[in-house]
Amino acid sequence: MANGYLMICTLIISIILVIIFFTKRKNNHEETKIFSKMLVVNVFELVVTTTIIVISLVSDSTNIFKILNWIDVILIVSWCSLLFYYVHTISTRDYNKKMIPFILVVNIIFYVLALFLDANIIKEDVTINSCGSLIDLGLFSVLFYNTLTLGTLLFNPKKNNLTKEKYISLYSLIILLFLAVMLRIVIRQINVIPIILTIVDMIMMFTIENPDGKMIEQLTTAKEKAEQANIAKSDFLSNMSHEIRTPLNAIVGFSQSLQEKNLSSDAKDEVTDIITASQNLLEIVNGILDFSKIEANKLEIINKNYDALEMLNEVKTLINSRIGDKPLELHCYFDATIPKALYGDVTRIRQIIINLLTNAVKYTNEGYIEFHVDCVKREEVCRLIISVEDSGIGIKSENIDKLFSKFERLDVEKKTATEGTGLGLAITKKLIELMNGKIVVQSFYGQGSKFTVSIDQLIGDASLLENLPNDKKSLDLKDKKILIVDDNNLNLKVSLALFKGYGVQPDTAASGPECIDKIAKGKDYDIIFLDDMMPKMSGVETLKKLKADPNFHTPTVVLTANAITGMREKYLSDGFDEYLSKPIDKAELTHILQKFFNNSQ
Ligand code: ADP
Repeated sequence: MANGYLMICTLIISIILVIIFFTKRKNNHEETKIFSKMLVVNVFELVVTTTIIVISLVSDSTNIFKILNWIDVILIVSWCSLLFYYVHTISTRDYNKKMIPFILVVNIIFYVLALFLDANIIKEDVTINSCGSLIDLGLFSVLFYNTLTLGTLLFNPKKNNLTKEKYISLYSLIILLFLAVMLRIVIRQINVIPIILTIVDMIMMFTIENPDGKMIEQLTTAKEKAEQANIAKSDFLSNMSHEIRTPLNAIVGFSQSLQEKNLSSDAKDEVTDIITASQNLLEIVNGILDFSKIEANKLEIINKNYDALEMLNEVKTLINSRIGDKPLELHCYFDATIPKALYGDVTRIRQIIINLLTNAVKYTNEGYIEFHVDCVKREEVCRLIISVEDSGIGIKSENIDKLFSKFERLDVEKKTATEGTGLGLAITKKLIELMNGKIVVQSFYGQGSKFTVSIDQLIGDASLLENLPNDKKSLDLKDKKILIVDDNNLNLKVSLALFKGYGVQPDTAASGPECIDKIAKGKDYDIIFLDDMMPKMSGVETLKKLKADPNFHTPTVVLTANAITGMREKYLSDGFDEYLSKPIDKAELTHILQKFFNNSQ
């Protein structure tokens, strides 16, 4: 009867296993479903084995034993076939259940064969056990399926599907089952099979089928997939930025040089419209790029000394031009105590203000826009309080919370004609947060809105302000030798047209090797504008080759449509002296030319 107590203990353990397994949150994988069936079959098998032992104490009916042993063998065959199916599924990742018909046929053969075989009970001193040909068939079925399982692991064509830990765990289970059969054959008094089946279940549950482990595995896979997707997204954005900016470069460049020609006033207006439209398009592309940078935590705040009033006045001019013919009055008030120089990221502050003012223009049909900038100074910090108030369409109170979500455009039916991506405010808020600032919105639907931003800026050093004249006419480039390197003919034409406006006729090269060749042949330049993304040799490679000559000291500006964040810093660290993004902004180009040629005059 000693083995009876052992069986009852094992049964209790296997019931606990079932309870733990079925109450834990788990995934819905095919193998997990198979494993849950193995657990249940194991419990039934233990119930039957225990019943056999208990009944043998009170009855001698051979028929009952035969039926019970037949059920026992059926359960053992089923459990072993489930283990084989489990291993086959996880090792080959064959989720089409192609193995099921084979298993069913083999199992039915075992079940039917078992019907014709005998089993009897041996009662010894303290043990009660079954034996006979039926039991031998049960042992054979364990050996049969265990060999198939081993074969599946050894000859699995898709070895990479399993990790080392899983292999170790599965091979130990197989060894354990072979040992169980050996023990049963050697020591006939003790039926260790049900105990070993439970131990196998237990090992599986705490290793490969551990719900926590599976969750971690799933999370790791999901994380890897997300990271890959993010890399793909960044690559796509970088390519898109390049692809869109290159033709835009041509549109903006040619339109700007057209604007300087003697055109009829109608044609001039149309050219201005083309420039505005392409600048809008550029803003949209930049918005998408900015947002992707923010999401990838790649957006950096680059602080420097700047002239706050000059920036505010520039913004005012820009917004006035955006108002155009709209019956809108822009009232500006800039606190007279704003220091001459502030220290912060002027580009981002300008972007925030332009976003708010552009929205005010977009969503106000008539009336006014109040643009106020106040300043509260404390020691070396100046808190800028920027407010933009309009008499526009306003925002419904239930929509205020959605205002800063990406791609959220509120009340769209009312303003389908107003273009926008729904990214502006999301970017604005992120930028403000990056600068440790705050933004507050007040709005009355149908009456208007007020956005108030507060950002702390350090008081800067006015003597460090880059005091460059804005007027390109003050630049004298007549005797300057300029080389432009670009593989795209259209881009070269645009650049030539732009440079003609400065009174120079630059030299051109259509590739990196051509540029190196020109310099090697003794041509001397005062500055080189070098495109980066060129097919034969990139700009970076070209510069490296040029710099290999210790006598090469010509300032080299990278000219690129690759405008993703961090690019400027990357190119400067690659050895370029300046960075100019495409489409070329005339003001930026002037700025760069002034930097290199104003002082040398
Ligand atoms: P976009 O203007 O490109 O649609 P934004 O992120 O700048 O995207 O703004 C999101 C939404 O917030 C806009 O679609 C608009 O519904 C609303 N909104 C923003 N500013 C104003 C404003 N000044 N007045 C009324 N609604 C506004």
